[in-house]
Amino acid sequence: MLKGLARGLGTTLKMMTEKPVTIQYPEEKRPVRPRFRGRHVLKRYENGLEKCIGCALCAAACPADAIFVEASENTDEERYSPGERYASTYEINMLRCIYCGFCEDACPTEAIVLGDNYELSFTDRREAIYTREVLLEPAAEGAQPTPHKTPPGAFPRSVPEMKDPQD
Ligand code: SF4
Ligand code: SF4
Repeated sequence: MLKGLARGLGTTLKMMTEKPVTIQYPEEKRPVRPRFRGRHVLKRYENGLEKCIGCALCAAACPADAIFVEASENTDEERYSPGERYASTYEINMLRCIYCGFCEDACPTEAIVLGDNYELSFTDRREAIYTREVLLEPAAEGAQPTPHKTPPGAFPRSVPEMKDPQD
């Protein structure tokens, strides 16, 4: 019995000297893995224009039918993206999403990205529909949020020129 007690106390003393593994969430957050897939973000270019061109390829690729996109025409007076169109409505039903990343893979402009945000609690089913306003990242410091007023003929392509994906 004394042997067992000594072993138990020994384990306690050993653990007292080790670094605690408990994370004080939400004050302290553990970094996620590089390939972690969290909440989606709609990305912008450095100048503030939106990368999404409203093509709905992400919605077509989604196996859970979680994405709804409605596109509208850009004008030189009110330009949201460098393409012919932009997503005037963009919604993801997070109750359906299975975080497969197919939307990210299908996007020709790398506009929709699964980020590292995993804080996705909601108390109402309607809050589970993440809208364009929720998903769109803020414009970078010094960049102008959309819409932009642009010179006529500055954006003649329906899909902006893209480099090959790096990842
Ligand atoms: S991660 Fe998968 S399930 Fe979720 S919205 Fe994208 S394609 Fe659909
Ligand atoms: S996120 Fe990408 S695939 Fe989806 S509508 Fe926008 S540009 Fe098209």
